[in-house]
Amino acid sequence: SPELARAESLIRSIPDHPSPGILFRDITPLLADADALQATTEALVTPFAGTFDVVAGVEARGFILAGSAAVVAGTGLVPIRKAGKLPRPAASVDYALEYGTATIEMHDDLPAGTRILLIDDVLATGGTLDAGRQLIERLGYVVAGISVLFEIEGLGGREVVGDVHTVFRSA
Ligand code: 5GP
Repeated sequence: SPELARAESLIRSIPDHPSPGILFRDITPLLADADALQATTEALVTPFAGTFDVVAGVEARGFILAGSAAVVAGTGLVPIRKAGKLPRPAASVDYALEYGTATIEMHDDLPAGTRILLIDDVLATGGTLDAGRQLIERLGYVVAGISVLFEIEGLGGREVVGDVHTVFRSA
């Protein structure tokens, strides 16, 4: 659609951020635009309409789109946070970063079997979303789908995460 094409044009590529050799995809100009935020939020949730009970987003940038997605879908939102931030974490999952490891945690206040749409801004190596999926399943919930605004191709993320819907992809 013209709205989505315009939204895509607002994603900016920043060379050498946060370190040399990394081409960082900056979605903040898209977020700042009302029509672009609306169109991309709808594109994130529409393929999964009626198949999920709640949206989950991964700290920190995943929270932004998960919040708008939950409002558009008429569901609630569950945060998946970095270790040590949640007051009553029920499970944690460690995963590999380029250098070192990270840990994410989640509460278990939802009924077992709750269907969760997992959302993030960017799919790179897939480590973050794979860990999010493991966390959701470890708590007895169901991953209804994984939806991402921008897929960086060539880093193997799709192979790691499996079935993932991405609104935009690097050419
Ligand atoms: P992955 O675990 O797939 O390697 O990395 C994905 C995570 O890192 C996402 O949570 C995303 O927020 C962040 N990330 C990695 N590369 C980029 C990028 O180029 N732009 C943005 N905005 N986030 C990125």
